[in-house]
Amino acid sequence: MSNIPRIITIANQKGGVGKTTTAINLATALAAIGESVLLVDLDPQGNASTGLGIDKRDRTTSSYDVITGAMSLEDAAVSTAVPGLSIVPSTLDLLGVEMEIAGTPDRVLRLRNAVRASAAKVGLYSYILIDCPPSLNLLTLNSMAAADSVLVPLQCEFFALEGLSQLLETVEEVHRTINPDLTIQGIVMTMYDGRNNLANQVVDDVRAHLGDKVYNTIIPRNVRVSEAPSYGKPAILYDLKCSGSQAYLQLASEVIRQERKLRAA
Ligand code: ADP
Ligand code: MG
Repeated sequence: MSNIPRIITIANQKGGVGKTTTAINLATALAAIGESVLLVDLDPQGNASTGLGIDKRDRTTSSYDVITGAMSLEDAAVSTAVPGLSIVPSTLDLLGVEMEIAGTPDRVLRLRNAVRASAAKVGLYSYILIDCPPSLNLLTLNSMAAADSVLVPLQCEFFALEGLSQLLETVEEVHRTINPDLTIQGIVMTMYDGRNNLANQVVDDVRAHLGDKVYNTIIPRNVRVSEAPSYGKPAILYDLKCSGSQAYLQLASEVIRQERKLRAA
């Protein structure tokens, strides 16, 4: 286990592209492979928290407390039913946080400062994943300021690439201004339906544009994956054998291989 966690934010300002599903299942898959993982739910909707079985009534700590500076990252973290996976849940308080911090000079650096202030404790995790809201707002900017890299889920649909340039420009700007270490971790194609001819065309198109930034693993559209959150379980616990779970395990090993290469370089 490393004492510097790899911090990956999962971002795309489009809603419904698979950010939360990827956050939950990549986090679970990494934990299943033996990594120690913290997931930070930065979306006021709190779907990652719900999907990991953290009932709304039980959310006594949240990412809101971390962003406002009321609580340290490690104190806000709670364990989940997945061994090796903790989460900082989100609550609806997050909806108002932008207005609360907008006038402060460190508004973009709240999460980054929290991670740094907790460095020793946070070092117990090998990965910190962040689930972003569907917007390039202050919360998403906080995640990019705190992260080493951005993982972008792209839905296999006709307009997959639409909006991507705006996202990449935002990453570039954060890189230029506040976080020179920020990189693109990778692009993962989600909700692939092999029966749909268009899906293959979209994958080819995305690979032609983005080349080796695109993971080999493609996440299939799989009903088991969409059912799992209503049981408060990651797909990998709900149905390990389903194609979606297997794909997320494969994605996790791709991410780990990427990290080994980085560390060896
Ligand atoms: P986002 O966080 O980007 O808004 P979600 O992860 O919440 O996207 O996914 C949007 C919807 O699509 C959810 O209802 C989710 O269950 C469903 N979904 C995501 N990935 C898959 C998949 N691989 N197969 C089937 N349904 C999926
Ligand atoms: Mg989401």
